[in-house]
Amino acid sequence: MNCIFCNIPPEAYVVENTHFFAIKDRAPVTKGHALIISKRHFQTFFEVSPEEILYLREIVLLLKAALDDEFQPEGFNLGMNCGRHAGQTIFHFHLHIIPRYADDNPDEKTGGLREYIQDIL
Ligand code: AMP
Ligand code: ZN
Repeated sequence: MNCIFCNIPPEAYVVENTHFFAIKDRAPVTKGHALIISKRHFQTFFEVSPEEILYLREIVLLLKAALDDEFQPEGFNLGMNCGRHAGQTIFHFHLHIIPRYADDNPDEKTGGLREYIQDIL
């Protein structure tokens, strides 16, 4: 299939389980920015099956442990762009895991994703 995420080589996997794998984002917004990608081709979270959701939880925890080990982040943003109008550019399920650090938010701004979305609208 002509889909970038259907063609990621297993050598690029940071962690994997039965239904998902994680890779480093090629354009990280923070140190360690990674993507959890489904092994099955579908577009958004709304199509995750009842079985897959259990594996999604597991791989989030696996990836968090790997990122904690390598980068010691102080927080995380988890995000999904579901649909073109929500910013999705690759139409194969992926969950952004974005490590956050005290020094990437020197003003201690609150709001997280809400603040980011308000900024661009
Ligand atoms: P989205 O805008 O939510 O669809 O996000 C797509 C993400 O995939 C972006 O953060 C890209 O930097 C990332 N990306 C695209 N192609 C690749 C690739 N081949 N390997 C790793 N990350 C990729
Ligand atoms: Zn795909």
